[in-house]
Amino acid sequence: MARQGNIKISSENMMPIIKKWLYSEKDIFLREIVANASDAITKLKKLVSLGEAQEEGAYKITVTTDEKAGTLTVEDNGIGMTEEEVETYITQIAFSGAADFLEKYEKAGGEGIIGHFGLGFYSAYMVSDNIEIFTKSYKDGAQGVHWESDGESTYTIDACDKETRGTKIVMHIAEEEKEFLKSGRIRELLDKYCSFMPYEIYLDPKGEEDKPVNTPLPLYAKQPKECTEEEYKTFYRETFRDYEEPLFWIHLNMEYPFRVKGILYFPKVRKKVELERGKVKLYCNQVYIADNIKEVIPEFLMLLNGVIDCPDIPLNVSRSFLQNDRQVQKIAKYITKKVADALCDLFRNDRAKYEACWQDLATFVKFGCIKDEEFYKKVKDIIIYKNLAGEYRPIESFFGEEVSAEDAKNGKEPQAVYYVSDENKQAQYIAMFKEAGLDAIRCDTYIDPHFISYLEYKAPTRVRFLRIDADIAGALKEEGEEDKAILDLFQEALKEKKITVKTEKLKNAAVPAVVNVSEFMRRMSEMNNFYGIDAAEQEITLVVNSSCEAVRMIKDAGEEQKKAAINYIYLLALMNYRPLKPEELADFTAASTAFMREYLKKN
Ligand code: ADP
Repeated sequence: MARQGNIKISSENMMPIIKKWLYSEKDIFLREIVANASDAITKLKKLVSLGEAQEEGAYKITVTTDEKAGTLTVEDNGIGMTEEEVETYITQIAFSGAADFLEKYEKAGGEGIIGHFGLGFYSAYMVSDNIEIFTKSYKDGAQGVHWESDGESTYTIDACDKETRGTKIVMHIAEEEKEFLKSGRIRELLDKYCSFMPYEIYLDPKGEEDKPVNTPLPLYAKQPKECTEEEYKTFYRETFRDYEEPLFWIHLNMEYPFRVKGILYFPKVRKKVELERGKVKLYCNQVYIADNIKEVIPEFLMLLNGVIDCPDIPLNVSRSFLQNDRQVQKIAKYITKKVADALCDLFRNDRAKYEACWQDLATFVKFGCIKDEEFYKKVKDIIIYKNLAGEYRPIESFFGEEVSAEDAKNGKEPQAVYYVSDENKQAQYIAMFKEAGLDAIRCDTYIDPHFISYLEYKAPTRVRFLRIDADIAGALKEEGEEDKAILDLFQEALKEKKITVKTEKLKNAAVPAVVNVSEFMRRMSEMNNFYGIDAAEQEITLVVNSSCEAVRMIKDAGEEQKKAAINYIYLLALMNYRPLKPEELADFTAASTAFMREYLKKN
């Protein structure tokens, strides 16, 4: 005779809530049920290892869909339950666990609990009208037990014939939830939630050649020294479905002071595209929780792709609790530190590889520095930039000595570090720098404009950055007076152009003039652009080079020639700075043709 029992008085309120409130993420029920099966096997294994239970064949979990019968079944060969245990664990503990969860969920308001972790067995009622449990304990002479409930408020429990040890949960899927009877849909869910669960999971097994749908020992759970490069790459491909190979990864494997395992991959940075958001999957004991949990994983690391397994994080609490939890903060810091350590190790132990990967690492590292001061402190010595000769050097090696407050008062400025942001556009400036034996760094990741501002802010007395076209006169000038006669000629001839003109004796005699744009003004207008504000045209300065013979010859030329030569020099400087506008180009073409005619006449 089946016995009947009341689940608990308050249950009448609970089930509708489970069914409706959690509607958005109801597919987590499968994770909860399969995780219970997995726990049951772990418990049995423990007893076997203590000699308190017998091992019987391979441990496994079987998931079966039956569209005709309208059932989804999860079966394990774990520890099983006796009748009293079903009473205690299912109708009392599991129930109060679910009630507890709902209470926290309610308190947490809209923000919820990450991945709805901890709802447990009763979550299956989100998709089921009725659930049956068939279970048999590992204990000698145990009798099979059958439990059944529609989840409303009553259940029945009676004995049944069950040959094998373990538990079988039969979910009678509700009419509106028929999708969970489709093998393909269940496969998706198992892939999402259960792919790293520690025991083999079979879906709708047919016979001999069945393969488990999961990887019971995922790569991240192994010891780093046991993993090969090929395995890391395969794991990446399979987990993130990204066919670009990652160049560098960090395998976290700590037991103390926290248990954290995982692999973080630095994905290939696609050219010019904005930094895409990566995906860091959070697991707890090989059970998937959710992606990109900012409460646990430092924000900048979410640009990476990775898996992190932290069994020590209290996941069945609200997000705001997690945010303020000291332990969680420590774990996040620890992960950051480990990432910094791994980068420093690579820098020290395999500089060639570090440099080869840097292009892909740089954006993440720089972003990390801007976001996290502690991280900056740890990696500041390994941030490298290429100089004009194409050699990588730590950025700090370009900085100068600190300028004292006293010196600063007397007008001494911090060391100027020149940078190239576009090699093609700035080719003339680069050539002039090289010829004069000066150096500059190449800034070619899209985050560099922000990052150099950050460096200036961090070391305001040691460095200021100037784009290579910002102050060429300052960089290349030689001692000598301004040539007043030339200045007057140029100012007069170009007075319509709304530019500032100055003359300077530059180290390179070949270039007649260059355009300079103030670093400050340029950054301002770039910022305006960034925020969608139309930037006014930037004011430029034409630096006329009095070391250049052609420039000096202008003084003795006739009036017409003077004008033509000055205009031509202006256009030459301009086109080495930016593309000419249509009318400037027409002007340049006409002037070039006229010069050619004169030149040909003479020969
Ligand atoms: P939790 O797993 O967080 O304890 P659940 O509500 O999911 O909460 O389950 C409650 C209890 O029911 C478990 O702690 C376990 O003792 C028992 N249980 C559930 N599923 C199984 C199973 N497949 N085999 C053995 N015991 C189970």
